[in-house]
Amino acid sequence: HPEQWSRAFSHFIAQCLIKDFEKRPSVIHLLEHPFIRQAHGKEVALQKQLARLIYTQQQSGSIIKTRYERMHTRRPYVLHTKENTCMDDDLVNLEVLDEETIIHQLQTRFADLQIYTYVGDILIALNPFQNLSIYSPQFSKLYHGVKRASNPPHIFATADAAYQGMVTFSKDQCIIISGESGAGKTESAHLIVQHLTFLGKANNRALREKILQVNPLVEAFGNACTAINDNSSRFGKYLEMMFTPTGAVMGAKISEYLLEKSRVIKQAVGEKNFHIFYYIYAGLYHHKKLSEYSLPENKPPRYIDNETGSVMQDIISKESYRRQFAAIQHCFRIIGFSNDEVHSVYRILAGILNTGNIEFTAISSKHQTDKSEVPNGEALENAAALLSIGAEELQEALTSHCVVTRGETIIRTNTVDKAVDVRDAMSKALYGRLFSWIVNRINTLLQPDKNICNAESGMNVGILDIFGFENFKRNSFEQLCINIANEQIQFYFNQHIFALEQMEYQSEGIDAALVKYEDNRPLLDTFLQKPMGLLSLLDEESRFPQATDQTLVDKFEDNLRCKYFWRPKCVELCFGIQHYAGKVLYNACGFLEKNRDTLPADIVVLLRTSENKLLQQLFSSPLTKTGNLAQSRARVTAASRSLPPQLNAGRIKVDTMEMMRHPEETTNMKRQTVASYFRYSLMDLLSKMVVGQPHFVRCIKPNDDREAMKFCRERVLMQLRYTGILETVNIRRQGYSHRILFEEFLKRYYYLAFKAHQNPPATRESCATILEKVQLEKWVLGRTKVNL
Ligand code: ATP
Ligand code: MG
Repeated sequence: HPEQWSRAFSHFIAQCLIKDFEKRPSVIHLLEHPFIRQAHGKEVALQKQLARLIYTQQQSGSIIKTRYERMHTRRPYVLHTKENTCMDDDLVNLEVLDEETIIHQLQTRFADLQIYTYVGDILIALNPFQNLSIYSPQFSKLYHGVKRASNPPHIFATADAAYQGMVTFSKDQCIIISGESGAGKTESAHLIVQHLTFLGKANNRALREKILQVNPLVEAFGNACTAINDNSSRFGKYLEMMFTPTGAVMGAKISEYLLEKSRVIKQAVGEKNFHIFYYIYAGLYHHKKLSEYSLPENKPPRYIDNETGSVMQDIISKESYRRQFAAIQHCFRIIGFSNDEVHSVYRILAGILNTGNIEFTAISSKHQTDKSEVPNGEALENAAALLSIGAEELQEALTSHCVVTRGETIIRTNTVDKAVDVRDAMSKALYGRLFSWIVNRINTLLQPDKNICNAESGMNVGILDIFGFENFKRNSFEQLCINIANEQIQFYFNQHIFALEQMEYQSEGIDAALVKYEDNRPLLDTFLQKPMGLLSLLDEESRFPQATDQTLVDKFEDNLRCKYFWRPKCVELCFGIQHYAGKVLYNACGFLEKNRDTLPADIVVLLRTSENKLLQQLFSSPLTKTGNLAQSRARVTAASRSLPPQLNAGRIKVDTMEMMRHPEETTNMKRQTVASYFRYSLMDLLSKMVVGQPHFVRCIKPNDDREAMKFCRERVLMQLRYTGILETVNIRRQGYSHRILFEEFLKRYYYLAFKAHQNPPATRESCATILEKVQLEKWVLGRTKVNL
């Protein structure tokens, strides 16, 4: 078995093959031999030898077309013509266009380890659930400024296309990665960042190193193990890589959306808390520092002790957690966090874990029945010490609250349940703000050096990686938000691929048959419209103190009269939504409280008095998502005006400055809810995306068992259907993926048909001369643009 081959033996096999090959080229069949196929991705030495051999053969003119060769060598650099295009790389080339043929094509390619396939300019990526050796520096070199058809489809090709688009047309670009949970979005985003840092060769190696550490760092805080994916993103991330006008990388900036804070305090059965908690536990244990952070060694703190009953030994002795802790320390250091800052971060994290261990008991006296106290002070003392606040003050803030009535301040006591809620709200706020602070700090540390280039003259490539569509056995408010965000991304895709494309043909006077597609706008309106959309109804109900989750669902039922919403009989508190990606049953239990997401003012006031500078900072001013409130506001307002109406689904408007505050921030005027913050976030995200030229990557999960190379036809078919791939193939087949203004086209390509001193006018005729001269196929001239 190739895995057991020694280096020497592999070498020997390679030599034999080479010799044999030189004698009889038919030996190429050997490459398809199962042994060799299994060696793929495992035996680097052998692969390299073979690749080199094939390359030499290719150079000497004897080109043999095998899949293996295509993976390892570069195709000749020539214009995209029918002869040299590998037809099965692009579904658009299929002769018969039906589901059966498409799925067969994908399955055959997948079996050949060809996980990537094009649909015109869109990349389909099937998750292989195993490491493939196709992301090495050799591959980076292969996908560097070459025509797409020169190499097999690859995620690097998409990064290269975005990069070339940015440099050539001086236009911002945006790569939108979509797919359900576990489909491979985050992995794809990593690979894109890796390739962009390679392409945007900065002389500044330190900066490149820093950028590569950003994703692992934020993902340690924002990702967690769920029932679907061991490294599931629990927040949305838009990473902008900034480049100088000549294409050298000069900085990066992340925007984070809607971290699932509720995970800090509770996780569903079989799921875990955010990775970082386990990393610090194992790492600090290894460095014998658990006691310094008051973290118990015998029993996991409540927040990471899920119902499955995780055993402490499992956490602290886990080698991978310990390695990840070291990696995170490395990330912090490389990006430029100071030791003090990192220390404060760990103290806050340990503070959160200790806060979770604070328990309350009821005390009733003659006068008061609703009072609670902390029976065992150890966790309280520990939490207070780690957060650098007074223990007594903390107890008071948890077990009582101030009410101001008619100018008088009255102190009311909290019941046990209320105290538990306040404790958990505090933990969630601490974690949420810490996460935002880390993101803001990264942005400061990675902002472009003004001496190299000012940010305005630079350009960027944005990479969108959000939490994928989820459908668990039990779905709550978090899943609703996640699925609405995915619905919005699908809408954006539809608009670009279908609606705007067809409008473009009409305005250019090009004949093209209309392609029908599933428009999810009515459903988005059901969620986002004001005042009768689901989110508005939720906000309205959240303002009534007497409202319950039951009255909320009744309200939904009374007002949402459309085919996308239904209320199952006999299941209390449940409602169903027909999403673009399937039916999801939501349980509204806790919706109102999650939407209100209140943090008592007493807690904010207390945390502001902390001696920990970082903590003080977290609670001293309203944190904004993007750091600069004025800038963010201006951009969102401008975008809401300039957004093409087709893209502004739900007619999102920016209401007030309040939209930008963290949800739990209480203001004098009105309480900011998670739903309104969410609506703002979607708008903010959209405003960033619409300024760039989009590139789409559609990740597909080939099976639900996370099994390597297993292709489940039904699952793939379902994803192809709901993402509209069949329709996409259709429209891409009859359409054109490049549209260039006559002027632009002539500026770039006139030398192909004209002499240097000639100055051809920007007309259809001039463009036609060039296109005919280079014998390109499949192009058409519109009123103002060349369509290729
Ligand atoms: P979520 O929406 O839950 O965040 P996701 O789409 O971001 O999901 P990933 O975390 O990127 O999914 O992928 C899930 C797992 O699939 C990865 O942890 C990895 O094991 C595997 N995987 C994904 N893409 C690749 C790839 N290109 N090569 C090898 N393994 C991959
Ligand atoms: Mg992810």
